Amino acid sequence: MLKEYDSVVIGGGISGLTSALLLAQRGKKTAILEAGATISPIMNGFSRKGVHFETGFHYASSLGEGDFGHYIFNKLGLDLEPFPLLQDGYDEIHILPTGRVFKMAYGKQNLANNLHEAFPEEKKAITAYLDRVENTLSKSFFLNMHKKQDSLYSAAIDSPPSLQEVLDEYFKSPELKAILSVSAFLHGTPPSKISFGQHCRISGSLYKSAWGIKGGGLAINKAYKNSLERNGADIFVNAKAVKIEYKDGKKHIFTDKGGLFVCNTCISTVHPKIFLNIAPKNVYREGYKARINELEETPGFFTLYAILKDGKYFKKSNMFVVSDTNINGIFSPDMKTRSYYINFSNSKPQALSIISLVPPSEQMWDKKAPEYNIKKEKYAEILKKDIASLFPEIADSIEEYLEVSTPATTRRFAGYYSGYGLMHDVNKTKILPITKIPGLYISGRSIIAPGLLGAIITALLVDKIISKST
Ligand SMILES: Cc1cc2nc3c(=O)[nH]c(=O)nc-3n(C[C@H](O)[C@H](O)[C@H](O)COP(=O)(O)OP(=O)(O)OC[C@H]3O[C@@H](n4cnc5c(N)ncnc54)[C@H](O)[C@@H]3O)c2cc1C
Repeated sequence: MLKEYDSVVIGGGISGLTSALLLAQRGKKTAILEAGATISPIMNGFSRKGVHFETGFHYASSLGEGDFGHYIFNKLGLDLEPFPLLQDGYDEIHILPTGRVFKMAYGKQNLANNLHEAFPEEKKAITAYLDRVENTLSKSFFLNMHKKQDSLYSAAIDSPPSLQEVLDEYFKSPELKAILSVSAFLHGTPPSKISFGQHCRISGSLYKSAWGIKGGGLAINKAYKNSLERNGADIFVNAKAVKIEYKDGKKHIFTDKGGLFVCNTCISTVHPKIFLNIAPKNVYREGYKARINELEETPGFFTLYAILKDGKYFKKSNMFVVSDTNINGIFSPDMKTRSYYINFSNSKPQALSIISLVPPSEQMWDKKAPEYNIKKEKYAEILKKDIASLFPEIADSIEEYLEVSTPATTRRFAGYYSGYGLMHDVNKTKILPITKIPGLYISGRSIIAPGLLGAIITALLVDKIISKST
């Protein structure tokens, strides 16, 4: 089965779907190859006993009118309804060693007031830090590309300082530093490794506003599917790309089911280490390949899902529970500290997800390994006990614990164990979207940034490079 297209996008996650939409909107005959059974399986969530559980989307910044997300949803023809989260406490941060509970507020003055009240001795530094976040964000192309036309790579190039360096420069309180870096859960890179610029773009943008999307991940997938169909793109699910060859100026993409797709432009949005396995051998220099293979992964996720008793408990805030005031410590590979994110859905009855970070060790989370189920049960018991002792009001509201997912589950749905792909380490090799093969590009969450908006922005940048070169 040979099919010819102008463009083929490998991987039907948000990055791939956005790339395909942009190409199709420019009139290119475009196909998407997705290994999973649906587009963006990570966003799809799942249902048990009539309750829907979110997996790859809970909240985002910049979705208000006039914001980047609002603009881009319109440009992509995505029919989505964002709704604002609780302004005075969209995130509730529990610092276990000190017992402090801090409510993150959005709106710069609101947040400043809350922080000043909690840390009066650091008032001047808090004001200066928030000014610096605002200034960095306003200069960044990342969330302003609908307003400014700066250098193409300004969003991609991360430069020092790291978030940790900035926090150490401004603040004394370890608790305050922990509060301001707990959003590392949202991108999977510790404060000592994430650049301050990336922190501002991904987490600092939440200081302006925080949003959910009506219908969550399922609604996002549906909106993409509808717009792709309207724009004439072809979606192939259960189509895993296993090899890319470069012949006579064309890219030949072979799938596991014997399919062959031939195109001029090919964008791979799969994990860069998977890409190296399927790409033509001369895609990069050997030294560069070795450096990509050495790049560190973000942690994986272990998630415990439960149904809450109807009408008993509805919390509008996300909860972050950290067991070390040094947030770098919660990323340690030995898993000595337990830290997690708790999300309450908007549905009725409510779904509860307790998402804990774990290092993506392939051995430990190999579904076929004999210790897999034992490890999974043990981990679930630890989390259940934690919830019972730390948050008895939540424990009392649980109707039943249902499912457990591990990094092996993420692997099944996204092809790789790590929750957010490669770490965006300010001091490590950057993967640029172009390759040595003309018309073969690499995109996705590991290239510029993870998250719904990070993936969309990555696709937009790659699209700008492609449209300039064709
Ligand atoms: C538990 C969790 C919670 C999250 N919560 C949020 C949130 O609240 N807000 C937010 O903004 N973001 C959140 N994210 C992040 C966000 O979901 C992702 O960063 C984003 O969806 C990544 O999109 P992507 O297209 O870059 O990658 P992916 O979604 O990983 O897309 C890559 C696709 O390629 C497919 N694939 C792999 N190999 C092949 C192959 N050989 N051939 C064909 N297809 C292949 C995979 O199946 C996958 O669908 C969360 C992520 C997780 C895991």
